[in-house]
Amino acid sequence: MARTVLVLGGTGEARRLAEVLAAVPELRVVTSLAGRVSSPHLPPGEVRIGGFDGVEGLAAWLRAEGVDVVVDATHPFAARITASAVTATSRLGIPLLVLQRPGWRESDGDDWRWVGSVSDAAELLPSVGRRALLTVGRQELAPFTRLSDMWLLARSIEQPDLPVRAVLARGPFTVESELALLREHDIDVVVTKDSGGDDAKLVAARRLAIPVVIVRRPSPPAVTVVSTVDQAANRVI
Ligand code: NAP
Repeated sequence: MARTVLVLGGTGEARRLAEVLAAVPELRVVTSLAGRVSSPHLPPGEVRIGGFDGVEGLAAWLRAEGVDVVVDATHPFAARITASAVTATSRLGIPLLVLQRPGWRESDGDDWRWVGSVSDAAELLPSVGRRALLTVGRQELAPFTRLSDMWLLARSIEQPDLPVRAVLARGPFTVESELALLREHDIDVVVTKDSGGDDAKLVAARRLAIPVVIVRRPSPPAVTVVSTVDQAANRVI
């Protein structure tokens, strides 16, 4: 009988993992998406969309679907679904693997200001620059809206609900396009979470000697964490 793998998704890594696993005949692969993006890039295999209703809902779903292994390949900042996965799988005795791409590392020429939260980033921002590019996700913009003395440009996949100036785009981006964006708007500070992966905006900021306010990741859960799709696939197959 096929083994059932639940991939908690919402990242490029989750999609690539589902592609690898869906090619294995002995596996039934279900990817779960939160439903934040209205036209997501769907992976192969089965897809379910929407929250589980917390730990109880997730545990009930895992039991009902006969899930054998869970891979949490959600974004490093998606801490609530990760906490749900840790609790639900340990309660049911189902193995859980976390796939999390490595965070970014500063290199020569960088001027990064590490902060503990998006709110802390907003608090620090006026002391760092006057014209900011915000790449923290459209649902994290609220703390910035009170910075009335600053010129702000948010970049997100979909239009933010808040009344902020926004440019809509979905990565990955190139260094050239990031340089063009920063120059076009005369940006003097970039705000980001330490998401890892595509670092074009950080390279562009370095080249233009623009400081970056960067939000630290939440701590990873105390389960096995791997950093590449291949490592995750090898452990599941
Ligand atoms: P979160 O704070 O950890 O999750 C909030 C709630 O959304 C969870 O409690 C869960 O609802 C539901 N949820 C989240 N991920 C889910 C998934 N893969 N499948 C089913 N339900 C899910 O997460 P978030 O920061 O809002 O992120 C939502 C999704 O966007 C994640 O899948 C993540 O991979 C993706 N994403 C997040 C970021 C980011 O910066 N946070 C960036 C890029 C992509 P219930 O409690 O009802 O189960």
